[in-house]
Amino acid sequence: MKHIRITNCHTHLFTSAHVPDSYPHWALRPLKSSPNLVTFIAWILSLLGFDEAAVQVRRLRRFQEETASSSQQEVLEHMRLHYPTDTRFVVLPMDLSQIGYGAPSVPLADQHDDLHRLATSADFGPSLIPFATIDPRADPQAKELWRAIDSLGFKGIKIYPRLGFSPTDPVLMEHVYPRAEQLGLPVMTHCSRGGVKQHGLPDRIADHYTDPMTYLPVLKRFPDLKVCLAHFGGQRDWEAYVNPELPSPYHDERVRNWQVMIRQMICSGDYPNLWTDISYTLFDFEEYIPFLRTFLTGDDEGTERLRSRVLFGSDFYMTRQEALSERAVCIRLRNALGEELFHRIAEVNPEVWLGERA
Ligand SMILES: [Zn+2]
Repeated sequence: MKHIRITNCHTHLFTSAHVPDSYPHWALRPLKSSPNLVTFIAWILSLLGFDEAAVQVRRLRRFQEETASSSQQEVLEHMRLHYPTDTRFVVLPMDLSQIGYGAPSVPLADQHDDLHRLATSADFGPSLIPFATIDPRADPQAKELWRAIDSLGFKGIKIYPRLGFSPTDPVLMEHVYPRAEQLGLPVMTHCSRGGVKQHGLPDRIADHYTDPMTYLPVLKRFPDLKVCLAHFGGQRDWEAYVNPELPSPYHDERVRNWQVMIRQMICSGDYPNLWTDISYTLFDFEEYIPFLRTFLTGDDEGTERLRSRVLFGSDFYMTRQEALSERAVCIRLRNALGEELFHRIAEVNPEVWLGERA
């Protein structure tokens, strides 16, 4: 086995201190602060014979334990256990101050500062690649974003439009993309039909903000800007793709499948700086890995383009809700893809994405 220096392009370290207290619902507050209560509920459920529900609740608890970590450093320590020691992790912060649940106890600037402290420490520095984030409503001049990049040396930008803004928001179009394009900074964005969203925002609008087509004006106006549509279209669209005959009422993912759209956009060659990552979707649902391998195998030009634009990422610790450990999924993925493909998406492509390799 050849040595592969893995770069995991999609991870999170934020803790409950970065999430508003009342998210996702004020009634869950006691559950969030009391893991024992969750264990008790799981026990009652299995006693009553609701085994599947009990399993779900136990996984939720594992996830909760991770968010309840006292620090970003602690989450990083847990994550590192799953990977070889020279693995690097791109860390994506979150600004949840604008989604209608009140302010998190730790503001974004402090979250950035804390990541910077970790990224410059002797112990964690070599394994950490911090990205900065922005919610245009919180930072209309993008000052905090550029402070994190210019003064703290952050390596890229993360946006999460489902929180309630369009990727074509004027703040992004005027104060973020032009300079990011000029500096060659990568922009990672959440692209799936699920995830955190603003309080009361209809799914239809949240989905519109993450729809690959909504990015077309950005891709056209900033052709040299590196944009990654994370999650390769997301779980619902993979599910619809893998099970095309499942009876279901009208669902957009059956007609306009984002996984297919992203592949077509990349393979066409019309958007040479468009990327995707396999985080969450492929880590959560092992049965999709053979499809990924098929998409990435072939000699034609389109397939070669796709092979050069897919990034390895896991979405730790979102995947803590699932049965298999991060290490177990990672090894399955490596086995299923084979060393050459894995080397491509986990080592070579991330270095190009981060501007370290031509
Ligand atoms: Zn994520």
